[in-house]
Amino acid sequence: MTFSWTPHRFSGGALALDVANSVVLRGDPERRIDRFADPVVMDAFPAGAGRHGAERALFGSLEPVREDARAGLFALREAIDRHFRAEVLGQGTPALLAGLLEAIAATLRRSGTRPQALDTATARSALLLLAQPEPERLKICPNCHWLFLDRSRNRSRAWCDMAVCGNRAKASRHYHRNREEKGP
Ligand SMILES: [Zn+2]
Repeated sequence: MTFSWTPHRFSGGALALDVANSVVLRGDPERRIDRFADPVVMDAFPAGAGRHGAERALFGSLEPVREDARAGLFALREAIDRHFRAEVLGQGTPALLAGLLEAIAATLRRSGTRPQALDTATARSALLLLAQPEPERLKICPNCHWLFLDRSRNRSRAWCDMAVCGNRAKASRHYHRNREEKGP
């Protein structure tokens, strides 16, 4: 199966969240998919972020992480997800925040001299997210469990991407309703 980094996969509204969202259905061990498990797919991510990411103007053209920095990017990715997901759920803790700040610091020590490297830019994006003044804009998509920043004017976005997850949820409700009506 060929995979491509389509605009939908950059629905997070921030580079740090798009990186976290390289894991789909994170909380579901049976259906969970890690797009970065394939290094070829992972190395194609920066070009996709440069085309479709919400912060592309801010970070410019990004470069893949070096092979020896991959484990560090994974650690940063997981720390981003843990902290911000807990925040949305009202379960944030100082330890999760400290874990994220440590992962950011480790990334900057390792790759900070390469500002265009994906891991450096992801660390900077996470710092911007930490400082953003309206935490209620951070949400979890009820369909795919992605984190996203709702940049809409009235903060009314329910799905990471209405055209994909919103429609799937509608179709699923319709399917279940029909089955109930026609069922035994
Ligand atoms: Zn979604």
